[in-house]
Amino acid sequence: MAGPFATPPEKLLLPVEVIGADLFGQQFFERTCTLAILRNGITVSLEQKLGPDSEVILRNPETGEEAIAFVVGHLPEDKTGNAYGLVFLDPTVNPWHIQFPAAESPKTVHLECSGCHTVCALSLSDIELEIFHARKELRRSCGICNSFMAWRETSREITEKRPGGALPSRNPNPGAAASPLEERRRNRRAGMKAVACIRYSGLEVVVACEDISKGGFRFTSRREYLKGTRVEAAAPYTKFSTNIFIPAAIIYSQKIPGGRFRQGVTYIKSRMPIGWNP
Ligand SMILES: [Zn+2]
Repeated sequence: MAGPFATPPEKLLLPVEVIGADLFGQQFFERTCTLAILRNGITVSLEQKLGPDSEVILRNPETGEEAIAFVVGHLPEDKTGNAYGLVFLDPTVNPWHIQFPAAESPKTVHLECSGCHTVCALSLSDIELEIFHARKELRRSCGICNSFMAWRETSREITEKRPGGALPSRNPNPGAAASPLEERRRNRRAGMKAVACIRYSGLEVVVACEDISKGGFRFTSRREYLKGTRVEAAAPYTKFSTNIFIPAAIIYSQKIPGGRFRQGVTYIKSRMPIGWNP
């Protein structure tokens, strides 16, 4: 399928399977088509409602290839459901094997914080541009007024180099701020210290978390936990203190280099039996 569909922003309508947890923590599996495939993610319209911070697995049903992606924004709703911009956590994946032309330098836009009217220059990746064009704004934190605000395009002069006050990045576009996406990836990588405890078949196993959110967490381990396994989990977990274990399920398991597995855990509300229950 690659090759002829070379240049973004051409729309690529290809089948995709989306696996994740909805706003209420319930697991879902949805088979649909992409609205567009971009270099670093896809846009897709789903029946399910996704939270602003959710992570899902995207699968190319033709090859079985999977990629973990997270919600970066919400496109205007259409009749079929909710349209989302989903960005690959690993920017090097390409589950549909699309041959994109050599990367163009990121587009820079002047954005103004709707709270304190700070103006900064931001370089946006293609998927952020897609969302920005659809919604005419980007939602991100502002380091000046310390709020999560809508940022809109402006012709005013730049007042701040970086709205988020984040660490300097390897941004190829000097003078522009790190893109919200880069910050997101960096924040996620920075969260690699906490541990969680998984209770399963009468055992308690402490695992290293890569990322913890309200809806669940991601961890790596030498042991593979089968997708669909019901567990109880406490995250973050502190030894010798009281930890609250919550019913949860392994929603994905991916082999990673070094003989390890990366697994996603989502909390569940239903009272399902603990154990293997696909
Ligand atoms: Zn502000």
